[in-house]
Amino acid sequence: MPQTDATEGSVADHINSVRDNIAHIEQTYRRAPGSVQLLAVSKTKPSSLIRAAAAEGQIAFGENYVEEGIEKSIELKALNLTWHYIGHIQSNKTKPIASHYDWVQSVDRLKIATRLAEHRSADQKPLNVCIQLKLDDEDSKSGCSTTELESLAEFIDSAPTLTLRGIMTIPAPRENLEQQREVFAELHRWYQTLQSNHSDVDTLSMGMSGDMEAAIAEGATMVRIGTAVFGKRDKR
Ligand SMILES: *Cc1c(COP(=O)(O)O)cnc(C)c1O
Repeated sequence: MPQTDATEGSVADHINSVRDNIAHIEQTYRRAPGSVQLLAVSKTKPSSLIRAAAAEGQIAFGENYVEEGIEKSIELKALNLTWHYIGHIQSNKTKPIASHYDWVQSVDRLKIATRLAEHRSADQKPLNVCIQLKLDDEDSKSGCSTTELESLAEFIDSAPTLTLRGIMTIPAPRENLEQQREVFAELHRWYQTLQSNHSDVDTLSMGMSGDMEAAIAEGATMVRIGTAVFGKRDKR
């Protein structure tokens, strides 16, 4: 894994090796070829590196800081990329998120979903939404609980300006592949339940640079990869 900030040249290499890696893991765990999408997490990284990834055919990018992502999306508008907001959502940021992003993966409460639905213009395509889910034994401050999942999903499904696409999750780091798989398997069961009640659901966003193999083994349809594509980030 790259230990320092990538260069434009190295991003091309990294992105292709992450893709090869995903294809190899798909094969190992008998997942259909191409069934796992790569979201390139470009938070804190300059537009020049995003351009380098886009030149290799990467379309979907993830950002954690609302304004930073919007600035890059405006600067790179001509490339027709797809922008996913994956950071914590403060309620005073729902308007810029709803107007500028294509996807929001970190919706974890009704108040935020309601505000996004109001702020997304009817002239735009509906905003693609994933519910950020946390399991009962995770003490993370973000994430919808499993007991609130269905009511939040029903609201999003019923909102004309939103499309419910699935679940995003960030489980606490686990020691080894086996422990990682156990948690991801449980999240996959919640995904299947959600899918049986909501026909548009097709996205299970789980797995990062450190636990991508376990996530793909247990049914992720999207992995969110930052470090392995763009190099290490400075603390922020
Ligand atoms: C930063 C971030 C990632 C990417 O993490 P890496 O370990 O750098 O691959 C994925 N998902 C979320 C929500 C993030 O904030």
